Amino acid sequence: MMVVMKAGSSQEEVQQVVSLVKSWGLEAHLSSGEERTVIGMVGDTRKVQKEVFFHFPAIERIVPISHPYKLASREFIPNNSSFALDGVIMGGKGVVVIAGPCSVESRSQILETAHAVREAGGHALRGGAFKPRTSPYAFQGLGEEGLEYLAEAREATGLPIITEAMSPEQVPLVARFADVIQIGARNMQNYALLHAAGESQHPVLLKRGMSATIEELLMAAEYILSHGNRRVMLCERGIRTFETATRNTTDINAVPVLKNMTHLPVILDPSHSTGNWKYVSAIARAGVAAGADGLIVEVHPRPEEALSDGGQSLNPQRFAEMVCQIRAIAEAVDRTLATSKVEVPAC
Ligand code: PEP
Ligand code: MN
Repeated sequence: MMVVMKAGSSQEEVQQVVSLVKSWGLEAHLSSGEERTVIGMVGDTRKVQKEVFFHFPAIERIVPISHPYKLASREFIPNNSSFALDGVIMGGKGVVVIAGPCSVESRSQILETAHAVREAGGHALRGGAFKPRTSPYAFQGLGEEGLEYLAEAREATGLPIITEAMSPEQVPLVARFADVIQIGARNMQNYALLHAAGESQHPVLLKRGMSATIEELLMAAEYILSHGNRRVMLCERGIRTFETATRNTTDINAVPVLKNMTHLPVILDPSHSTGNWKYVSAIARAGVAAGADGLIVEVHPRPEEALSDGGQSLNPQRFAEMVCQIRAIAEAVDRTLATSKVEVPAC
């Protein structure tokens, strides 16, 4: 439920309503627009005595929120959420490109990739140190050693780091090294992990579960937001369908649908959603054309040697080509490529 205050209400009038909401044991979330202030009520709204609101002349109307997610909804927070990562704005007008290998494999591999990502105009470096692999016999990641190499790559290139935490216990460690905690598709509904990521107050990239609905994704985000952590990005990474020609099916619809339903930044992962490097640039372009705020793309200096997801990884040259295509698409839809540390070479 939301209380919409009349245009020009004073701070004191807003505060009176906030105190009233709190007196019912509810949380009051303020959203101040240019004209109007909206107060969102979160908690057990059965305690709300609506008739009491009649005594507050500065209230314009009370609006019920129809969705089970509140803090994630655009109804509740109408303006896009954005936050800065080392000077790179996530959720702003500029489209952000996050790139790097599926897994951190060695010190030299992540440093080489980080330099290539930076040179091509990428904005942040990805790389898994803890890997959620389908097979227990597959490479599981370098763990803390991988996090140390990522930190060194950030030092060398200035690129912020994004890497996955697979359990609540890993959250403090990952938060110490990384700028953004990734929650993977397989863990989208790991509620203990969502809780820990929320409590950490660290930026989070939440990936959509492979069989999760958009509403379930937003409910998972709500868990993180409800701990007061507002720096959450959502990631469409392809869903399971009957189609077997690609690893997953990119739910391109999810991009404009999410932009409509939520104020949170929306990132598209064209690598996991196709599973084949040949389709990655095309789907990256489609994602930006559809309104994505950013991309997360797998890049490996020698994809044929990768220990995980080599088949869907771009080599540095193909990645550089993709970045300059993305710039053209961004400009065509009245966006830009976010400012990067280097001048992006012409296509
Ligand atoms: C990854 O980003 O390497 C990954 C494992 O992604 P997802 O959780 O989307 O499968
Ligand atoms: Mn991967």
